[in-house]
Amino acid sequence: MTMTTQEHPVQSADVLIIGAGFAGLGMAIRLKQAGIHNIIILERGTQVGGTWRDNQYPGAACDIPSNLYSYSFAPNPDWSRSYSGSAEILEYIHSMVRDFELHPFIQFEKNVAGIEFDEQHGLWHATTDKGERYSARATVLASGPLSNCSLPNIPGINDYQGKKIHSARWDHAYDLSGKKVAVVGTGASAVQIIPELVQQVDHLTVFQRTPGWVLPRVDLATPEWNKALFRTLPGAQYMTRQALYGVHEAMALALIWRSPLTAVAERVALMHLRHQVKDRWMRRQLTPDFRIGCKRVLMTNDYYPALQQPNCKLITWPIVQMTPKGIRSVEGIEHQFDCVVFATGFDVGKAGAPFSVKGLNGRDLDDEWQIGAQAYKSISVSGYPNLFLTFGPNSGPGHNSALVYMESQLDYAVKGIQKILQADLLALDVNASAQSAFNRNIQKRLAKTNWNSGCKSWYLTDDGFNATMYPGFATEYLAQMSQFKEKDYHLVQAG
Ligand SMILES: Cc1cc2nc3c(=O)[nH]c(=O)nc-3n(C[C@H](O)[C@H](O)[C@H](O)COP(=O)(O)OP(=O)(O)OC[C@H]3O[C@@H](n4cnc5c(N)ncnc54)[C@H](O)[C@@H]3O)c2cc1C
Repeated sequence: MTMTTQEHPVQSADVLIIGAGFAGLGMAIRLKQAGIHNIIILERGTQVGGTWRDNQYPGAACDIPSNLYSYSFAPNPDWSRSYSGSAEILEYIHSMVRDFELHPFIQFEKNVAGIEFDEQHGLWHATTDKGERYSARATVLASGPLSNCSLPNIPGINDYQGKKIHSARWDHAYDLSGKKVAVVGTGASAVQIIPELVQQVDHLTVFQRTPGWVLPRVDLATPEWNKALFRTLPGAQYMTRQALYGVHEAMALALIWRSPLTAVAERVALMHLRHQVKDRWMRRQLTPDFRIGCKRVLMTNDYYPALQQPNCKLITWPIVQMTPKGIRSVEGIEHQFDCVVFATGFDVGKAGAPFSVKGLNGRDLDDEWQIGAQAYKSISVSGYPNLFLTFGPNSGPGHNSALVYMESQLDYAVKGIQKILQADLLALDVNASAQSAFNRNIQKRLAKTNWNSGCKSWYLTDDGFNATMYPGFATEYLAQMSQFKEKDYHLVQAG
């Protein structure tokens, strides 16, 4: 239905989905499968894919095996490797759009600037930065926690005259060959970029603030017989997925909590370091001083060898300033570069909303989340009825596939949306008491995890509040999401 008001017509749907990454597209698929077809997906980019559209830096790949880092309702028997590259994952996302016929639902170049709940009519109103207007009975916020890249707060960053590239906005037109290049950051993206860049550039300088724990990765090309097997016997692929799921669940024991397995994982990582780096001083520079699991564990076989190439230098002195020609480190040396690559991560939505979200009685999510984002089961927020978050507060896994968690969120949202539409509800709003009780328990459990064991990471706010990770096994998270407890919600009937 389209009704005309003022300068932009209001486009209406039963469900508005913001974002066309894995979450937004998966949401549309599950809604369609549940018989809900009146959907609009708003995407600010010019194509689908989110993370995998944006992160096309050299070496970009998943660090959870592809058979697990994919949707169970959209299996792909043709993954070319254990850990597929960014282009292949993006093609998988495009194939979901084709196979589930999602194109008619998606509107591109619609950058949502704000959404507001209209209590009287039980509608969410959304506005884009160009003033286009939408309204829907329910809204799914699938804008992704890692979709806004962030540059570090280095003094003089704007004075630097050379080329600047953020890992999530790679400039493929810029020729790196023969150039002097710096990489700032040594996290999950950096350890994938550095082995590729060192082969292309004249000289590479890597600025490390904190060394991460690095585990070896078994990344094999998939033989043709294996693809044929998965094509003819989908059950075999399902079993493989389940086996991978089980292995990753076991890793929770090492990575989430301190246990004897934590010490084993640290030992394996130190052996990997000792095996790959012979120089004692360099090994010292690369040895973490925090517990494994506290920050994201890095999975790579190529990173340490790349750092030891003759055209690569690791600098562990802190950066104090960027100058017009390069980077000055604390010991006073100015290092000059043609190009600086920032593998410095994202502006993670752990304290504040991604855009203006106004709920009941003018409540503002950004204000409420300033001290740290909170939700009920990561998906509903009290005072913001008929709104569902994907990858919301405390839904992050440290040891398993984000898509496993996401699938359970999608199915939970379908149940909520079905309830709103079938019972003709004006509002389905989670009770504040249920949300508080949920969060008290989450924070109590988080206090005992490796994430909260003292290191500084993007999982925590500056005050040390953990608004990102789920302190349990994926199996526990899935069990929690499989139950839609109506008694935890306040239902307002229309009429
Ligand atoms: C480099 C990298 C590697 C990763 N590897 C793994 C991995 O191996 N395993 C794993 O489990 N997880 C991994 N992750 C986490 C990953 O982000 C998630 O697995 C998943 O891709 C997130 O999907 P999403 O749809 O929630 O968000 P996104 O993929 O970020 O999609 C969000 C979409 O919303 C759009 N959007 C944002 N704001 C607006 C707005 N205001 N209006 C309209 N549209 C908007 C964006 O343009 C984007 O298309 C990785 C993340 C990164 C950055």
